[in-house]
Amino acid sequence: MEATIVLLPGDGIGPEVTQAAVAVLETVAEMFGHTFHMQEHLIGGVALDVRGHPLPDDTLQACLEADAVFLAAVGGPRWDRPDLPMRPEQGLLALRKAMGVFANLRPVRVFPPLVHASPLKPDIVKGTDFVVVRELTGGIYFGPRQEPTQGRAYDTMVYTEEEIARVVRMAARVAMQRGKHLVSVDKANVLATSRLWRQVTERVVAQEFPQVVLEHLLVDAAAMHLLRRPSTFDVLVTANMFGDILTDEAAALAGSLGMLPSASLGETRNRHGFPRGLYEPVHGSAPDIAGQGIANPLAAILSAALLLRHSLGLEKEARAVERAVEQALEAGFRTLDLAVEEEPVSTRAMTRAVVGMLRGAVGG
Ligand code: NAD
Repeated sequence: MEATIVLLPGDGIGPEVTQAAVAVLETVAEMFGHTFHMQEHLIGGVALDVRGHPLPDDTLQACLEADAVFLAAVGGPRWDRPDLPMRPEQGLLALRKAMGVFANLRPVRVFPPLVHASPLKPDIVKGTDFVVVRELTGGIYFGPRQEPTQGRAYDTMVYTEEEIARVVRMAARVAMQRGKHLVSVDKANVLATSRLWRQVTERVVAQEFPQVVLEHLLVDAAAMHLLRRPSTFDVLVTANMFGDILTDEAAALAGSLGMLPSASLGETRNRHGFPRGLYEPVHGSAPDIAGQGIANPLAAILSAALLLRHSLGLEKEARAVERAVEQALEAGFRTLDLAVEEEPVSTRAMTRAVVGMLRGAVGG
């Protein structure tokens, strides 16, 4: 396959972890006989410095023409200044909007060698491997609002059938590729939007995905069950605000932010007929450790695996990358954020370990 991938390293540890993702994508291309044209563009704080805008036109244009986009992280204290016309994060928000990505997929997998890094007991987190699909562009974060005025303020949660149906479809498709078990999370005992959410979810799954087993959970119960029985979930789908909160809770299960990838997908297709996605590690630019060569590159590498799976349809290659990450962890490689008793390794050493495992597995 031939594919164009836009790379947006951004700020802080962004360039360091992007190098790791590139090394892995280059190895995949070489081992599996693909050609990936990778083009770097500016975004975030560095784009503000150099071009005066956090999402320059040529960056946006390149993203809209690419088969997939990899973004590492934006922002940092250097740009936390009220005198700047725009903030680095505005570049990312504008990019998500322009790409029309309305579903955010966050896989949460506790790799067996890391069960002890989780704050939960090992026998509870063991086997945890699920995906949260969060609606990203609707709901209470985008509804009519009033800022505090004379002691009163409000936010409004609005959802349309179409907004719900498209994200549920996306989640059901993910469930079809996995264990065919979908949990829809809402607050239907209180909220009208949740009652609509439930009706639409039931209809879409029954009519279009009859093989998927659908279950409903109230968001408060879901928050508890994620801690009590995380290993029983397969795919969860939920509205924007519930997803925002539950994905952070779920992230804690994995032990480190440096382990968590994400994919944001919409309806626009690339030239291969797959969604033109935006792939990002969940973590930010980690300014406290930037430039030291100690960042965990695994979230970026696992985001590259998601890119292979969802935007290029390369499932075998995605699994090979995920397996190589697991093997590097099994072999004892740990960056500082993961190390308990082990001697921590650098970003580059961890990347070399993953690349080595990938070559060994594919070559052998
Ligand atoms: P952060 O995720 O950057 O860092 C939180 C903590 O986790 C820090 O101690 C950091 O060192 C550690 N950490 C994060 N990623 C790591 C990795 N790969 N390896 C090892 N340790 C890692 O969040 P923050 O400190 O709240 O934000 C820092 C900056 O990043 C802010 O400017 C914020 O706006 C921005 N941010 C950007 C994004 C994004 O680009 N999508 C997301 C979140 C935060």
